[in-house]
Amino acid sequence: MGIVDDDIERVRTAISIVDIVGEYVTLRRVGRSLVGLCPFHSEKSGSFNVREDTGRFKCFGCNAGGDVFKFIQDIEHLDFVASVERLALRAGVELHYTTGPGAGKDRKRRQQLLEVMEKAVAWYEKRLLEAPDGRAARDYLRSRGITGEIARQFRLGWAPDDWDTLCREIGVADDLLRDVGLGFTNKRGRMQDSFRARVLFPIFDETGAPVAFGGRVLPGSDDPAKYKNSSETAIYAKSRTLYGVNWAKNDIVKADTVVVCEGYTDVIGFHRSGVGIAVATCGTALTEDHVRLLKRFATKVVLAFDADAAGQGAAARFYEWEKRYDVQVSVARFAQGKDPGDLASSNPESLREAVSTATPFLGFRVKRALDAGTITTPEGRARTAESAIVIINEHPDINVRRLYASEVAVFTNLPAQDLVRMVERGGNARVVVATPVRQQAEGAGFVALTMLIHRWNDIAPWLIEALFAQDTYRAAFRAIVETDGNVEAAILLVEGEARDIIERAAVSDFETDPILESRALLAAAVRRELAQRVHITDSDEIRQDRQARITLADFNDPRKANDAAVQLLQWLTNRTTSTA
Ligand SMILES: [Zn+2]
Repeated sequence: MGIVDDDIERVRTAISIVDIVGEYVTLRRVGRSLVGLCPFHSEKSGSFNVREDTGRFKCFGCNAGGDVFKFIQDIEHLDFVASVERLALRAGVELHYTTGPGAGKDRKRRQQLLEVMEKAVAWYEKRLLEAPDGRAARDYLRSRGITGEIARQFRLGWAPDDWDTLCREIGVADDLLRDVGLGFTNKRGRMQDSFRARVLFPIFDETGAPVAFGGRVLPGSDDPAKYKNSSETAIYAKSRTLYGVNWAKNDIVKADTVVVCEGYTDVIGFHRSGVGIAVATCGTALTEDHVRLLKRFATKVVLAFDADAAGQGAAARFYEWEKRYDVQVSVARFAQGKDPGDLASSNPESLREAVSTATPFLGFRVKRALDAGTITTPEGRARTAESAIVIINEHPDINVRRLYASEVAVFTNLPAQDLVRMVERGGNARVVVATPVRQQAEGAGFVALTMLIHRWNDIAPWLIEALFAQDTYRAAFRAIVETDGNVEAAILLVEGEARDIIERAAVSDFETDPILESRALLAAAVRRELAQRVHITDSDEIRQDRQARITLADFNDPRKANDAAVQLLQWLTNRTTSTA
């Protein structure tokens, strides 16, 4: 379906490309052109030109160029038709469509509904900002840290505590109000408002057109439904709508990351804290349609809600979407019992931090399982590992499963090889660890030393002393390294338990992957070190620690794991030698 050519040209002549571009780019006049910094690539000199006489833009840096519709398409991530519609609405040009029986009529109705919504947004907004009966709502918002400026930015509104004020005053035909979900015919056959005594959050589609409202009661209200959303209409489908995407999408594209929250105030909280990449589902779980929409803007999806509470079914869906849409789902963690809306006032920095250190979804769930278990007894260690392995086995990628299994091995001090074997079949093969893994199991440190003796070349480059948690293992490691793996010579350098470790390692054998074992040790050592550095105040050090946390997440990506290991070994070496 297309738009009639004449209409496209009418839109083109009704607007000025300089005005449109000028809303995104600061322009200065140079001869016939206006010049500015290109919004499509990063630059310090102005390579970006716009000309009113030709109606075209061109960047000599990145070669972006075209007419005003192309500009809107590129900068707002719209298709051609949507870009024309966007500018038509602005220019007041009525559009006609070319094909499809009834298509033109639908489009026209849609346009009408959007206009009604726009009118309602403005009406409710004015009510909040100016009307005496909006005071309680203003006070409430202010108490949540939402100032008048923020209310205007997000176009918040107030639905009066009355049953038909909007329908009476807005001056829109009843059928339109009904079709857009703002009013309904009550038992007495009169038009009644859908929203009453609620703070309203207008919901816009990705092009910035208002399509629905979310309404929240004020504290102390006896209305049992805290939130109420518009019903679905011709212009609003919950499963395909994300609150905030209209404001966030450009930042989302730049960061290649989107934060998905649970509520409207969470989105606003992130924006207030300088994290302009947040969106929220509108009273539903995240759907595949949402992911498809987000995929157009970013490949990294950070969940800012308790995704694990959604259960196992949700987990399976997330893994499937990761694969199908090539996105990475991770989970941001917040201080106990706090939501992003609260944190925006009390600790905005923690929101940025939570996003930059988000844990891959599987890692998040595994950590939950590990934290919930006890590892003080052999039985407890086995059970804890078992519960984590069940979760790991839900993941479809064997490399990912192997990596996590080795992390579980380090945490529970069980041999990585045994746990890795349990995840190698994966899928539905729910390996139940009956009398699992030898109870006198040797830990990951011992396995690494054994491999160092027997397969020096494979593992030596990946081991440093700081990887070993216990002094005896460190002493054993030093002795083996100093003698280049000559066991007889190494034994002479140490005594007591360290000697015992070397002697046992010399006669042990593990069929496991040396890289895997060393990574497991490294990840555990980095976590140990980070946990000891929570009181660091030097900003450089804090930055490096944050980077280490981010790099740690790369272990889950087979393509990045090698570089990550190199960087983390360096980080650990710097930390441990400077404090020694
Ligand atoms: Zn450019």
